[in-house]
Amino acid sequence: MPAVTRFAPSPTGHLHLGHAYAAIRALQAAAGGGRFLVRIEDIDRQRCRADFERDLLEDLAWLGLVWEQPVRRQSDHLADYRAALARLFELGVVYPCFCSRKDIASAGGAPQQGDDEGPLYPGVCRTLSVAETAARIAEGYPHAVRLDVARALGLTGGLWWHDRAAGRQTAEPGLLGDVVLARRDAPTSYHLSVVVDDALQGVTLVTRGADLFAATHSHRLLQALLGLPSPEYHHHKLLVDGDGRRLSKRDGALTVRALRFSGHTAAEVGAMVGLS
Ligand code: GLU
Repeated sequence: MPAVTRFAPSPTGHLHLGHAYAAIRALQAAAGGGRFLVRIEDIDRQRCRADFERDLLEDLAWLGLVWEQPVRRQSDHLADYRAALARLFELGVVYPCFCSRKDIASAGGAPQQGDDEGPLYPGVCRTLSVAETAARIAEGYPHAVRLDVARALGLTGGLWWHDRAAGRQTAEPGLLGDVVLARRDAPTSYHLSVVVDDALQGVTLVTRGADLFAATHSHRLLQALLGLPSPEYHHHKLLVDGDGRRLSKRDGALTVRALRFSGHTAAEVGAMVGLS
């Protein structure tokens, strides 16, 4: 079956070589009659910018990539994520969390892998009484919403997912713990939106960097709770610089844009990521 794949950048900077690699991988995985989608993951309103979105799409087109229209922009679909969150509340597998990052660090949260949400959540708000939670909400305390992984697994039982490179994986959502599903500043989070969108867009193969491998364990649990299909995954290697450091948005010189405006051709940039 030809695959439906996607490239899902967050417009917080310019397209760098690591992104170009990921996008080309996704496009190639859809070869042979599949579909290739681009999705803009812009729920972080502090860090995402419209000009970065425009430039990302322009650089992708310059590289020669062609994707299906329309592009789905997450900030246009908050109602979809709210509906999914409401379903999780009905199931009793989420809880409001009033902790700041500082609270979490001082409560002994351990460093968390592959995610931008800070330390593994030690569970402080999981045991708040219904009355205490309601009182804090009524008083207007800012809060996030977290997944109660233990309760959720109690409903779903054991789960597994498949990675094209690493094979069958037993889902271990405890790795990232009670992840955030709605942020203090947004009615959703990366984890919730990506699971809802991949299902709504009919994505059958998620190609993304190995840095998101741990997140997939949490995503598999969300799919089971929400009755969504589980796509196949292919977590690919991350591009590194000459010192073995992962390429990131900080490496300004390695943006497609910088290379493009300094006279490189699209074919040369493709060759730099080993995918010409
Ligand atoms: N938006 C994420 C990023 O830019 C990618 C998410 C995904 O591919 O699932 O890192």
